[in-house]
Amino acid sequence: MFHINDNFQKLPGSYLFAEIARRVKEYQQAHPDADIIRLGIGDVTKPLVPAVIDAMHKAVEEMGHEETFRGYGPDFGYDFLVNAIREGDYASRGINLAYDEVFVSDGAKCDVGNIQELFSDDAVIAVTDPVYPVYVDSNAMAGRAGDYVNDKWDRLVYLPCNAENGFVPPLPDRPVDVIYLCYPNNPSGTVLTKEQLKPFVDWAKENGALIIYDAAYRAFITTPDIPLSIYEVEGAREVAIECCSFSKTAGFTGTRCAYMVIPHEVCGLDAAGNRVSMNALWKRRMATKFNGVCYPVQRAAAAVYTPEGQRQIKEVIAAYLENARMIRESLTAQGFTVFGGVDAPYIWLKVPGGMTSWEFFDLLLDKCRIVGTPGSGFGPSGEGYFRLTAFNTLEKTRQAMARIGNLKL
Ligand code: PLP
Repeated sequence: MFHINDNFQKLPGSYLFAEIARRVKEYQQAHPDADIIRLGIGDVTKPLVPAVIDAMHKAVEEMGHEETFRGYGPDFGYDFLVNAIREGDYASRGINLAYDEVFVSDGAKCDVGNIQELFSDDAVIAVTDPVYPVYVDSNAMAGRAGDYVNDKWDRLVYLPCNAENGFVPPLPDRPVDVIYLCYPNNPSGTVLTKEQLKPFVDWAKENGALIIYDAAYRAFITTPDIPLSIYEVEGAREVAIECCSFSKTAGFTGTRCAYMVIPHEVCGLDAAGNRVSMNALWKRRMATKFNGVCYPVQRAAAAVYTPEGQRQIKEVIAAYLENARMIRESLTAQGFTVFGGVDAPYIWLKVPGGMTSWEFFDLLLDKCRIVGTPGSGFGPSGEGYFRLTAFNTLEKTRQAMARIGNLKL
């Protein structure tokens, strides 16, 4: 009989959202008439904007004619999209990226999950805590996280982020090879200034570490001077890989398009101690395992950078941020302590009355018929916190806040 990768056996229970779905289903079966409001999963609800749809329609039409039909596209993305990304997301902010430093993909989840294939088997990984679970689980599957003991992976270095440190992660207190950072942060909705990010870049340079910077929520940043890209921090080109996505920027969660930036300067050591370009390794990996993103989807993504596209997606994001503001302000007025929700679609609240995150989940579901996400599902430092998202409609969000108001905690 063949053997499996035993690391999969070490993964704890069910994936966070599967457990939430299980509890909601159970509740629904017991209360078939309950009108449940979902402020849990981080999926968008508003449709693709007209500029995106028009571009996608045109591209679909092209696929139906011999003269304009396209087969396999370039492994790393079509020129029109790569150049739109370079110009729209980087050059416009004073960051110059070479053409072959941008890799178009079908999702930031795949990118942040797949990038670990380039790390050595015994690389030491640091994650902020709480954390987007994909960074942890993808490394656990490769055996780098060690064993899951008492709700923690014993080979991971956790960088706790909490109300006490203002959600600014401490630098690692021991050598690590890779640090995952995500800003605006999922789940806490908090951001870091350039001055707060700079020590990470400096630390990575001094210690020969790599930063994986997940900027999937960059489009939500409204506060002036908050960096949209880690490359706004001096020296980051030497140590950081950045992941971005059209999912939250432009509602592509079901359409699938993202990109990763790997500057030529980013190098790791091989077993013989030679410096090896991560950009070259990723090209090799993508050329072997990926055949590009569907042409109409890339055309649709490029439309995000047109003037109409920009105007339209900004309106959508403003609507989500309005929900976030409403959640933040009404919870604060009700006496909750809340974080995030200014430059992100996530609101991170302190669970009242000494309850655990899952106890508060059950209470909100039972008494308010609201589904949120227990903070403990994002890591040990998430215990005692709870995540609400701004992706529902204005009306549902308002109703949800009224229901919580009636809780009288
Ligand atoms: N990165 C973070 C921090 C996310 O929260 C998410 C989705 O929720 C993703 C990446 C996934 O992005 P994509 O839809 O491009 O796979």
